[in-house]
Amino acid sequence: MEDYIPISFINALAYCPRRFYYEYVQAEMLLNEYVVEGRLLHEHSDEGGTLWKDGVVQQRRVYVWSERLRLAGLIDVVEWSDGGIVPVEYKRGALGRWRNDHAQLCAQALCLEERLSVSIAHGYIFSFSQRRRELVEFTPELRSWTESLAAEAQCLALQKIAPPPIDQRARCKACSLEPLCLPDEVRRLQQGVTAYEG
Ligand code: SF4
Repeated sequence: MEDYIPISFINALAYCPRRFYYEYVQAEMLLNEYVVEGRLLHEHSDEGGTLWKDGVVQQRRVYVWSERLRLAGLIDVVEWSDGGIVPVEYKRGALGRWRNDHAQLCAQALCLEERLSVSIAHGYIFSFSQRRRELVEFTPELRSWTESLAAEAQCLALQKIAPPPIDQRARCKACSLEPLCLPDEVRRLQQGVTAYEG
């Protein structure tokens, strides 16, 4: 069993197993303008501290972990109110294109639930670019997918070879690791080897 895996890598895995392998196992990270901008935008929540606003207590930069899922990491903001406990994840880009952010947020909620022995119904993803937040319900399906990602992360972390590129051109186009991963070239090479062997 690998050590505790940072929750943010659940996001990478939900996006693409190969991306998870590059970032977590090989510690490869390519900085482009979007990655740098995302980091800068996170700085406010990274300062930590507690705010009271309109009956809601906002705790910034909350560390959580799950012994069951072997996950650990920081939540940008946790809101406490009469309505319950709500995790909030800040993102640079637009909302709702893929569900990797949902899996990351759900992993945070599962850790919080384990730490506090509570049930958390939903969380929010706040988009800096759109200046709005999306409600994410922690449905049984999302919980189960997130738990399976945590288990898959443990297996991939012990693998000796990176998984093959995914066959989703739109995702690869939006992936900061594309210049390193070279998905089209790798796929072509693999097809060539298969054809030669056949
Ligand atoms: S370029 Fe595509 S296959 Fe490669 S890591 Fe990114 S999403 Fe995965």
